[in-house]
Amino acid sequence: MNASDHAKCLCGCDQAVSKGRLFVPGHDRRAAAMLIRMRHGSIAGFLADYGYGRDGKSLKADFLRLQSDRALREHQELEAKSAAIEAELAKGKQDGVTWTTSTPAGKGPRGERTSS
Ligand SMILES: [Zn+2]
Repeated sequence: MNASDHAKCLCGCDQAVSKGRLFVPGHDRRAAAMLIRMRHGSIAGFLADYGYGRDGKSLKADFLRLQSDRALREHQELEAKSAAIEAELAKGKQDGVTWTTSTPAGKGPRGERTSS
């Protein structure tokens, strides 16, 4: 039986990693570099295989587009949520529910005054 107390680094270096970790520090990059080199020859070859390069698509433009799409989606989700809350509040007002968080203007308790 070859089981050990510690898991081994995913890069294949056979070093033990601490609990909850997948790689020895820095070996995630090493693993990516090894695989890219084996499959694509170089990082430029890796990009070219996905259509990125001087004559192809812009990796950075695609990345930024992806990021902003994600941000836009999150923004739209938030707006949808707040619209739903506002709709609930409006519905509550129509149903005659009183919201006690604010007092109507001009009718505050400070309007009272004792005459001397
Ligand atoms: Zn490793």
